[in-house]
Amino acid sequence: MVKRVIKRDGKIESFEIKKIVNAIDKACNDGLFIIHDEDLLYDMIRMNLFNSSEEMTVEDIHDIVIKCLIEHGENEIADNYSNYRKDRNKIREKKSNIMKTIIELGKETDRDNGNVGNNFSAKLLRIASEANKWAMLAEMDKEMAKHHENGDYHIHDLDSFNLTVNCLHVPMEKLLKEGFNTGYGTLNSPKRIESAAMLSCIMLQSAQNDQFGGVALPDFDIALAPYVELTREEERKFFIDAGLEVNEEYVEKRTLYRIDQAMQSIICNLNTMHSRAGSQVPFSSLNIGIPRGRNDQEEKDSALICESIIKAYMNGMGKNEACIFPNIIFRTKEGINLNPEDEYYYLFELACKSAAKRMNPTFCSLDADINLPFYENGVLIDIMGCRTRVADNINGEATPIGRGNIAPVTMNLVRMAIKAGRGNINKFFEILDYMLVESEKNLLYRYDVLKKLKVSDLPFNAGQHLMVGSEGLDNNDNIEPLLKQGSWAIGFLGLAECLTMLTGKHHGESKESLELGLKIVKRIREYCDGAKVRNQLNFSCYATPSEGLSGRFPVIDRAKYGVIEGVTDKDYYTNSCHIPVGYNISMKEKMEIEAMFQPLCNGGHIAYIELDTYPTGKQIETIVSKTFKHNKGLDYMAVNFHIKYCKKCGEYLEDHEEVCKCGCEDIQGISRITGYLALDERFGKGKKAERKDRISHENGNRVYKSLD
Ligand SMILES: [Zn+2]
Repeated sequence: MVKRVIKRDGKIESFEIKKIVNAIDKACNDGLFIIHDEDLLYDMIRMNLFNSSEEMTVEDIHDIVIKCLIEHGENEIADNYSNYRKDRNKIREKKSNIMKTIIELGKETDRDNGNVGNNFSAKLLRIASEANKWAMLAEMDKEMAKHHENGDYHIHDLDSFNLTVNCLHVPMEKLLKEGFNTGYGTLNSPKRIESAAMLSCIMLQSAQNDQFGGVALPDFDIALAPYVELTREEERKFFIDAGLEVNEEYVEKRTLYRIDQAMQSIICNLNTMHSRAGSQVPFSSLNIGIPRGRNDQEEKDSALICESIIKAYMNGMGKNEACIFPNIIFRTKEGINLNPEDEYYYLFELACKSAAKRMNPTFCSLDADINLPFYENGVLIDIMGCRTRVADNINGEATPIGRGNIAPVTMNLVRMAIKAGRGNINKFFEILDYMLVESEKNLLYRYDVLKKLKVSDLPFNAGQHLMVGSEGLDNNDNIEPLLKQGSWAIGFLGLAECLTMLTGKHHGESKESLELGLKIVKRIREYCDGAKVRNQLNFSCYATPSEGLSGRFPVIDRAKYGVIEGVTDKDYYTNSCHIPVGYNISMKEKMEIEAMFQPLCNGGHIAYIELDTYPTGKQIETIVSKTFKHNKGLDYMAVNFHIKYCKKCGEYLEDHEEVCKCGCEDIQGISRITGYLALDERFGKGKKAERKDRISHENGNRVYKSLD
């Protein structure tokens, strides 16, 4: 009878039957199998172990278990059991390969993220990131690690798992008013627009380094407005000090000039300062468009800021190059800026002109069903450039300001559909329910890990009380109260391929598939709502902006299940609940369908329109205005096209043109990846394949022919 087990590392442990029972349980859960006549199976295993020697290796015991499972007729469980074992072996091999990975990364960073550079800091960051990923996987429950490695779900930013949180809507207005400290002294509340602009960049950069995701300024134009009047007063003071009568016309001219200079400096700063871990510019977003102030003058001043920042963005960089950052979100509202008779319609017109030239702003509708109640309560919803949305709050005030996403996990819907098999909808929902439980488990585990962090681990965001929940906390307090304020997102990838697997058609092709698609996302949302109450944490349903992931899942699934037409035959899965990018569908129909999904995804979403030529401002205006008025379900959208410009003179080129009129062949392309813009060459493999398939929703033409 076995008494001792020799482990793989040579250590000897006393034998426990419990470990075998647990491992078999796990092999069952994964595929949702039930063992018939369990007692008989365990008797059989005991019998075999009874007849063995006192000391056995782990491998020998595994072999006995598998033999018994097969003799007992549980072939599929045996298969799972043996796969599980192989997977664990694979991890061990991979771990020994980590040195190789590190050496490879020293040569060139990979392209998990479209905006990471390739300098020394980037390489160092990737190496550290790779090492921590493995440490995290080794540390967590084996089942969780296995779900991630197998591609059942994806734990985002695993390298930051134990270190920090995802993203934040920086409370800009408060920081400007009260001043702040980044560690080496106090920055007082600014007295003019230039310093207010500088401080807004500093707060983005400091906030960025305390977390792994994006940083947004919620009401950028409103927050800066008070510093316009201070600038005017400064200009007036020159006249007064010189004993002259104040020339108001001149004062206004100087003030406008200074606003424009300040906004230009923000655009330059946010596109040049590699202050995100030394290798990236911050993933910054600015929300604008609804002028407000404590009085009429201040409201007008916030409109001035809005106008000026759009113009600065439109002007681009020094040689007229298009900017990648910040992502600008222009918020529309009927009665304020959406209709020609509205007071600030000219700002919307300008935003559309800019979007036609630079693919920014993107547009958020405050008239949408999910945003209007907030608006009516005085809360302006704002968006993180990646599409993350934080609004509801089970633990306090419903506002985006000072809050963000804590962590997301993304489920592989396609895998579930393949496992269930064509037409087997009930089985699919069984697996979905199981994976929802597993996703919740993973986020709760992350919560347990993160809550041990102290305020001093997030010295700016928590230490300077940017995050709601950090009020009154000291450096030595743990950050648990902040974790209760942010969102915990359960995301999903590949609804289109999932539906194709289950029914043969995706949600753009058939009404029945659309119904089923809605039922699936509704189930995810309902589960998140339940998890929210159960855990008293802000769980949310997330239309994940998958970048590296959209290419990772299909590779794993193809290796496991082979090529399945319309399902695993491409190098990418379609993001979240989007209609596949290569499917010929009219703008109107696409938006109508995606408008049904957006309200369900309270953790964030975006809808895209793709065009194959440079649009005009009017065209963008018509698209945005019509879409928002026609679809009250839809609240966040962007219009995409291919930007190409000459690096020498800044002149724009059409997709098919390779040489600029000036003779220069050094051409730069820009396209949108997830929510942000990125240089063409910085797309990873999966996203490159996806971009290649994108067709125009105006005429069905392919958009990125030149990138074949
Ligand atoms: Zn040129």
